[in-house]
Amino acid sequence: MEIAIVGAGFSGTLVAAHLLRKATGPLTVRLIERVPDQFGRGVAYSTVRDCHFLNVPAAKMSAFPDDAEHFLRWARAREHRLINPPWVTAITSASFLPRRAYGDYLCGVLDEAERGAPAGVRLERKTGEAVGVKRGPRGISVCLAGGERHEVERVVLALGNFHPGDPNVADRSFYESDRYHGDPWGPEVLAALMETRSCLAIGSGLTMADWAITLSEAGYRGTLHVLSRRGVWPQAHRPAAPVDFSIAAEAWPRTVGAWLRHIRHYIRSQRCDWRAAIDALRPATPSLWASLPLAEQRRFLRHLRPFWDCHRHRLAPFVGDHLQILTQSGQLVRHVGRVMGYREDGNGVDVVIRRRGLDEVSLLRVDAVVNCSGSESDYRKLESRLINDLLDRGLVHPDPLGLGLATGSNGALLDAAGCASRHLYTLGPPEKGMLWETTAVPEIREQAARLANALLRDLERSGRPARALLARASGAG
Ligand SMILES: Cc1cc2nc3c(=O)[nH]c(=O)nc-3n(C[C@H](O)[C@H](O)[C@H](O)COP(=O)(O)OP(=O)(O)OC[C@H]3O[C@@H](n4cnc5c(N)ncnc54)[C@H](O)[C@@H]3O)c2cc1C
Repeated sequence: MEIAIVGAGFSGTLVAAHLLRKATGPLTVRLIERVPDQFGRGVAYSTVRDCHFLNVPAAKMSAFPDDAEHFLRWARAREHRLINPPWVTAITSASFLPRRAYGDYLCGVLDEAERGAPAGVRLERKTGEAVGVKRGPRGISVCLAGGERHEVERVVLALGNFHPGDPNVADRSFYESDRYHGDPWGPEVLAALMETRSCLAIGSGLTMADWAITLSEAGYRGTLHVLSRRGVWPQAHRPAAPVDFSIAAEAWPRTVGAWLRHIRHYIRSQRCDWRAAIDALRPATPSLWASLPLAEQRRFLRHLRPFWDCHRHRLAPFVGDHLQILTQSGQLVRHVGRVMGYREDGNGVDVVIRRRGLDEVSLLRVDAVVNCSGSESDYRKLESRLINDLLDRGLVHPDPLGLGLATGSNGALLDAAGCASRHLYTLGPPEKGMLWETTAVPEIREQAARLANALLRDLERSGRPARALLARASGAG
């Protein structure tokens, strides 16, 4: 039996680790990743910079839902390496640790699962880009660029986050310029920005925060301009006493306006920190999202999304403080508006901006532009051979909100006719339209454990393996 997992970020790595830990054999787990450095780490945890921090405290970053302290123990055992004043002064449950260290942790989780797998259960790491999926005699096959083909019984698409889409402007020629960095994680971006006297980050979320801190740590002397459409700014974590903000599902409001009023009223009446209320809602968010009619979900995306994002996805406290220092010193300058175009000449680029609330446009002169506007989630716009192939064959279908892919239970992908696949699954960011809260470790680790269990049970039920594949039917550990 073979299961292919495309994408070796957190999602793919954790599904692989669970399969290796729970299967009794025979099973080959083929983990396919196009970027060698991202094996086990993915986009988020392959950074090589110590100034890129997790935005979730250590106590909530265990890879295993049933062993909450797994990551904390790992970190404590490496305290001497991780202490790095002034950023990290102690390893506690509230510590915000470097993402690079978290990548090391994930690689260790995968290695350990591989070493501990019983005879007949094995992991095969394959570097390559999956470019297509076809139905085949055994179930399904994954085609790699270069022509290699892997016949397997099940495929998990753990494709994660894609590059941001370029802002929509009439003349897109600037996007070909050396002054434009469409992929904020590109290896060449830092050296290019360090050469500039001023640069513009489009977007004011966590990617921008990464860039502000990276430039500052690298000794950048220029000005970092930050443009956001609504003027929202990422909030920082602060200690807040937890609250019990649970509402019986029957009493859930059916409109986003009513939800907003309800949350505000709760925070005011309980005099609690808004962070505690948002955190308390988190476990129920996917069910709450599913309970809203499509029109209300759209209304939320149109009016509230940036405000939700900046309150829900918070910065490590010291990163928030650092941004404030950069702003107060005038090195970081905030602008509110949208990009209308670019006028590049030999010495720089004038970014044409329509300021919020104003009709006329103004020009912002910078040496370079980096797109920090967040992952492109409209799969119809992605430049991915794999996604285009899947869409063309009707094997997958965008969700109605255009935030990812339509899925059924356990991440089974829905085809163009709306039928749940028995062979193709996904988890994590591609399920955003269906679950809303599905992009971070605390949610994805649960999905990975559930999906691995479901796949093993399903293969066992299909009767093909000579003996049971599933060692333990439940439990993520
Ligand atoms: C910069 C950043 C910081 C973050 N920080 C945190 C944090 O502190 N805490 C937290 O809980 N969450 C954080 N997140 C959220 C993050 O999305 C999840 O934690 C998690 O890493 C998502 O993992 P993933 O495997 O789904 O996606 P990804 O990490 O994006 O991995 C997907 C992988 O699939 C590969 N791939 C895609 N297409 C193909 C193909 N066709 N063929 C082969 N390989 C392919 C990609 O190369 C990539 O390595 C962060 C996200 C980002 C982007």
